[in-house]
Amino acid sequence: MSRAEVSPTRSVDDDTRRREPEDVRRRQLMEATIDSLAEIGFNASTLSQIARRAGVSPGLVAHYFGDKDGLLEATLRFLAARVSRGTALRLAAARSPRARLQAVIDANLAPEEFDQRTGSVWLAFWGQVLHSARLRRVQKIYQSRMLSNLRHDLRALVAPDDVRRLAIAIAAVIDGLWLRSTLSATGETDAASARAVAAIFVDAQLAAATPASAKGPNPMNSTPRHRNHVGGQYIAASGKTFETRNPATGEVLAEIEIALEPEVEAAVAAARAGQKIWGAMTGTERGRVLKRVADLLRARNDELAHLETLDTGKPIQETSAVDVLSGADCLEYYGGLAASISGEHVDLGPSAFGYTRREPLGIVAGIGAWNYPLQIACWKSAPALACGNAMVFKPAELTPLTALKLAEIMKEAGLPDGVFNVVQGFAETGRLLTRHPAIAKVSLTGEVGTGKKVMTDAATTLKYVTLELGGKSPLIVFEDADLDDAVSGALLANFYSTGEVCSNGTRVFVHAKVREAFIKKLVARVKNMVVGDPQDPATQVGALISPDHMEKVLSYIAKGKAEGAKLLVGGQRVTSGKLGKGCFIAPTVFDGCSDGMSIVREEIFGPVMAVLSFEDEDEVIARANDTEFGLAAGVFTRDLARGHRVIAQIQAGTCWINHYNITPIELPFGGYKQSGLGRENGKAAIEHYTQLKSVYVNLGHIEAPY
Ligand code: NDP
Repeated sequence: MSRAEVSPTRSVDDDTRRREPEDVRRRQLMEATIDSLAEIGFNASTLSQIARRAGVSPGLVAHYFGDKDGLLEATLRFLAARVSRGTALRLAAARSPRARLQAVIDANLAPEEFDQRTGSVWLAFWGQVLHSARLRRVQKIYQSRMLSNLRHDLRALVAPDDVRRLAIAIAAVIDGLWLRSTLSATGETDAASARAVAAIFVDAQLAAATPASAKGPNPMNSTPRHRNHVGGQYIAASGKTFETRNPATGEVLAEIEIALEPEVEAAVAAARAGQKIWGAMTGTERGRVLKRVADLLRARNDELAHLETLDTGKPIQETSAVDVLSGADCLEYYGGLAASISGEHVDLGPSAFGYTRREPLGIVAGIGAWNYPLQIACWKSAPALACGNAMVFKPAELTPLTALKLAEIMKEAGLPDGVFNVVQGFAETGRLLTRHPAIAKVSLTGEVGTGKKVMTDAATTLKYVTLELGGKSPLIVFEDADLDDAVSGALLANFYSTGEVCSNGTRVFVHAKVREAFIKKLVARVKNMVVGDPQDPATQVGALISPDHMEKVLSYIAKGKAEGAKLLVGGQRVTSGKLGKGCFIAPTVFDGCSDGMSIVREEIFGPVMAVLSFEDEDEVIARANDTEFGLAAGVFTRDLARGHRVIAQIQAGTCWINHYNITPIELPFGGYKQSGLGRENGKAAIEHYTQLKSVYVNLGHIEAPY
């Protein structure tokens, strides 16, 4: 689907389909609150009156929202989120900075914001904002979101000095038009005329302002510039920047400001302040916020998937079905666990007992790889935050965009400022984190070599480390396997995300008896795979992350041929049509491989499969384990006893029987040997983001020998 085809109707339907029954009940209660506020006003709307209106018990309302303040906060968020969604959809369809300004105006002055019911509720809330810190926080997010949208596009239209002033002026006109119309008994302005008045105002202001072109490049072509997200807002950095590009076209997507020492220090200071507030909240309260983040991620799935595909080159059919949703699942999972993170009671006889407290570590750093940027940011932040820590996250410099969106969404969901910060840059920025004395732990996803450097640096301040590193995983197909399933598994194990998956099963061991039949089915299916524009929903194999990485993968293909492997399919760059400007390689299968070849020993991180043959169970186990890596493994067999027996002997942290590359959040994920330390996901991750305090409590007198 192209951006122009995004229609509000379609997306609202999608939202509704995605909504869980719990969400439907919450929504019903918020609708009842809106009705109540519209009809009888703020003071008369009590929790029990709202419950009666919704036909439920007050206890149920309390179960979902805590108290009246909680219910009102949720309802205001609900209204604000509706405006945000409307804005996002209109922004996605707008083609120029001026059109995007109008999109912000149109969303805020949409007809549904003018009806009496909605208007009176907004007014009731604004009236309470001065008296409630919780409502104030939501209002602040709503206002700063509008300003930041306006500023973003004004930067392309007017000189930097005029940007802030104009953004505030346009926001004031939007609010003023809405307020006058809502308060006016005579219906002074309707949505259409309010939008027209705002449009005239904007055009007059733009005509009077100094154009951006007077101080820089053509505004219509100007590249967006993104700052570091620290303490709940974007902060200016030293001025050094790098570019992020779309690997499918080579087009520059954005300029990113690099975080060096001052910005990292600011992030650590913000994290320290944020963690004090966050760590003092109950697990239930923290869980509620994380659940809201998950809901917002799901609601914005399409927009985030689009951005992730632009930045990574991965097919939209994957990012829209996996990347964002897996991040949301993780936040929901840890949001649910947050309330149950606890220590234990230890019986020490009649006169004493002990207990343990599971406490946060403090400030933790997350450093991400480029293959699953948003998912990695969620997989690291969700357990860290559930346990009460604050996080400073550095995305890979090749994919800096979606982590910033996650930071914005976390803020919108009510995460206190400073609890999740994003700093951008290269290894130098990463090192500032791994060496920082105030950071208690680093969680890295990256290459083995980077893992070793991170661990060395972390040792200087004795930090905890979790390392999710590379792999060269085996996938074993026994002679009794369902061959169609085994081929499906091998395809998932090698070509998902264009082969850029750490757990990929790139050494495919096939029993000699079925090798020929397996290869026949495999090659037929690989030949049918669609390599193409990642934004096209039909595309199955997108672009590799960068020209350098593409060259690396091509050099492995050349080595495979030179070392005597037999190329069955693929093996070349794809340059047809518009793909010539991007980093596309056809899915490639080598047969006749032997254990010593470079393509069998080294991680390629691209769409290259090596098929090997075996005859005996013990033989294949020994060969599968003959690697420095130990991230993942898969076995295909109908004999489940054999499946378990083989997996028990495989040295790998994440294993599948009759499947491959499926990673439910409930199961811990991580590697043996050089593939990593520690685990992400599942309850296991809680251990890695908490420290245990033991408390001995004496109930009697102390007997001292002195
Ligand atoms: P890298 O190791 O090159 O980079 C990972 C991150 O570490 C990047 O943000 C990078 O910054 C940063 N970094 C690099 N050097 C340092 C340093 N000395 N100190 C601190 N930070 C540093 O990995 P890639 O991004 O190339 O990702 C691909 C690798 O990640 C593959 O080996 C893959 O197997 C592995 N991976 C492992 C997964 C797992 O869960 N086990 C999952 C996904 C990928 P910069 O971006 O500037 O280089």
